[in-house]
Amino acid sequence: MQEITGSCLCGKVSIAADADIKMVINCHCLDCQNVTGSVHGTLVFVEETSVNVSGELSAFDHPADSGNTLTKFFCGTCGSQVMGKNTGRPGMVGLRAGIIDQKDLIKPGANIYCDSAVPSTAMDPELKSFPKMPG
Ligand SMILES: [Zn+2]
Ligand SMILES: [Zn+2]
Repeated sequence: MQEITGSCLCGKVSIAADADIKMVINCHCLDCQNVTGSVHGTLVFVEETSVNVSGELSAFDHPADSGNTLTKFFCGTCGSQVMGKNTGRPGMVGLRAGIIDQKDLIKPGANIYCDSAVPSTAMDPELKSFPKMPG
């Protein structure tokens, strides 16, 4: 188990988890580019029940190309992305890596949606990479 803490930019929303990190993924899909305002998203997947949220999260639902519904949770005051859920992965949440205080825990295992990666994005050749979502 790992202790994970983090908060949004303004500090109104914070998270605390005692969690097993299931996987860490760099996602280069266009949705992650839009929602993060950066060239890729990095997600730290843990069990939803291990995460305690303090403060109020806003939510936005949208469909994934798989047909699943994705929900993005963010601070309604400062707009920081906090975590996401996917109806295709019940019980799991993907914490947005940038909000996590324990930077050493952010060790991506793969790059996904590399087909839509911004060409200038450096990628670790040691990591597995997938053109879209690995099947
Ligand atoms: Zn905030
Ligand atoms: Zn993505």
